[in-house]
Amino acid sequence: MNYSGIKYTDMINGEGIRVSIFVSGCSHKCVDCFNSETWNPNFGNPFTESVENEILSYFKKYDKSIKGLSLLGGDPTYIDNIEPLRNFILKFKTNFPEKSIWIWSGFTFEMILANPKLLSLIELCDVLVDGKFNKDEKNLNLKWRGSNNQRVIDIQKSLKLKEIVKYID
Ligand code: SF4
Repeated sequence: MNYSGIKYTDMINGEGIRVSIFVSGCSHKCVDCFNSETWNPNFGNPFTESVENEILSYFKKYDKSIKGLSLLGGDPTYIDNIEPLRNFILKFKTNFPEKSIWIWSGFTFEMILANPKLLSLIELCDVLVDGKFNKDEKNLNLKWRGSNNQRVIDIQKSLKLKEIVKYID
């Protein structure tokens, strides 16, 4: 898996101060995508063990001020990103079980629920921002997403209650 960038003090993508990883690879081809160079899974640099360790060290150093990890793209649920991200999240959760993990996907939550491979990644996370960016529903006033069709979903509550529970409206 490649990544295009890491923001170490990100206050835009999710709640609180977070570390955000922008992975490469996306198959959704949304019209007016803000980040189309990241559709190519080979864009950016390899997400190596040394990059992983750098992120974990940062969390150790700034443990109190960082609320969690955000996974964006491209698409973190792009097929080739699932295993590497699962492995990293499992490592991350062992070290920082109390930190939240937010993830963005071009797939809807319903599509993810119907696909065990996608679900195997999403179920490790806390909050999902789902669905493709739709330019006809673009809304600059929304928090954490770009168009009205996209939802901010509480993953764990939704899985437990077997219905979609929004994290915010
Ligand atoms: S899912 Fe995100 S990265 Fe992929 S095409 Fe849509 S807006 Fe762009």
